[in-house]
Amino acid sequence: MAFHPDGVFAWISAIDVPNVKAPETWKFQLMTSWRKSDDDEKIETADVGLADVKMRTKDFADPFRSANAWIPKGTPVYTNRVTYWQPVPWDNLGGMMSLAGDAAHLMTFRLTHAIADVAKYVAALRTMKLDQEKLKDAICDYENEIIARGGEEVGLSTMNTEMVHQWDKLMQSPLFQKGAKRIA
Ligand SMILES: Cc1cc2nc3c(=O)[nH]c(=O)nc-3n(C[C@H](O)[C@H](O)[C@H](O)COP(=O)(O)OP(=O)(O)OC[C@H]3O[C@@H](n4cnc5c(N)ncnc54)[C@H](O)[C@@H]3O)c2cc1C
Repeated sequence: MAFHPDGVFAWISAIDVPNVKAPETWKFQLMTSWRKSDDDEKIETADVGLADVKMRTKDFADPFRSANAWIPKGTPVYTNRVTYWQPVPWDNLGGMMSLAGDAAHLMTFRLTHAIADVAKYVAALRTMKLDQEKLKDAICDYENEIIARGGEEVGLSTMNTEMVHQWDKLMQSPLFQKGAKRIA
């Protein structure tokens, strides 16, 4: 991961390592992000192109600068306009309909809560007896938990995303304050 004072974030991760001793066989995922500005209005409806990514990463230190500069011409670039919403209670039609994962609480950069939601949902259904009132209660309990948990995470991830794209706030971000933990 690298952060540029201009508010650009760059990421490189190895996604396929067929031969650990031969780096030329490895495949990488590169990601570049920045805050949308008024200047970006013109690309609002169009995808960001490879030239734009190269331009935004040209002043990074290596390996980020070269990794982006050397991306072969014609490589597809996928645009993701980072969005989020705060979950609010919804009408679950007496427990017959509910939401989970991104549909319930879309977040900016974070670890997904979708799997935790599914675990809670299954646990809620397991405690339920086969009658309509119990179904409604079980689903309402499930929703209360995911709306509170998901809502908190939406707020934190939004704050962190804002901070890592503004140099002056970066040092105060949860990422810098608490760190990114290596898990493998
Ligand atoms: C670029 C990117 C990188 C990410 N990286 C990470 C990461 O490293 N770690 C992490 O934990 N999370 C990551 N996330 C977040 C994670 O991918 C999501 O939180 C997770 O996939 C949400 O799961 P979901 O099942 O709720 O939604 P989704 O995975 O979006 O699944 C919804 C499914 O519903 C289908 N669908 C939509 N509309 C309809 C319809 N009308 N009828 C039928 N099917 C429909 C879609 O095709 C899709 O298959 C990343 C997200 C993005 C966009």
